[in-house]
Amino acid sequence: MEYEEMKNIVATQVCAQCGGELTIRTNPVDDTNNLEIWCPHNPDHHGYVERETYTQAMRRGEEIHPAIVSAIERKMVPKDDLGRAMNLLALRYPNAIVDPPTAALFIMDCARLDIDPLISPAEAVPIPFKSRKKKSGGQVEEKVTVQMILPRTAGSPWRPGDVLTSG
Ligand SMILES: [Zn+2]
Repeated sequence: MEYEEMKNIVATQVCAQCGGELTIRTNPVDDTNNLEIWCPHNPDHHGYVERETYTQAMRRGEEIHPAIVSAIERKMVPKDDLGRAMNLLALRYPNAIVDPPTAALFIMDCARLDIDPLISPAEAVPIPFKSRKKKSGGQVEEKVTVQMILPRTAGSPWRPGDVLTSG
């Protein structure tokens, strides 16, 4: 595969198994310096899906990849389904989790990072931020993004984590 083609895949696709960003690396097992696309989140992950398709599905709060749902069920919400996790999150953070897609996105990202926002104390907390963007017509569009905050340890300052965009 050509390098340009690989770059294109990394730009347009995400890991089919965890939804994470893909990267290009030199294949460590042969000495030909062959490049390969891999998931840095887990070397056992294979395959990729289109980023747009994936993001759209998550934004709609549906068609979540089964591997991710099972990861959530296994790690985060045993014996519960994603909908219930989304409800719990919305109840706990009504100001940040304003709609199902926001909840789904946040839970997906927590699952990807292997952290649990539903235990107490939470390993991740969604915080809403309002941002303003000027549209081409000169109008100002207000957008609420949800930022994930990861507490380091109890009593220590928060630090910002991944930025999730909703809407
Ligand atoms: Zn992966």
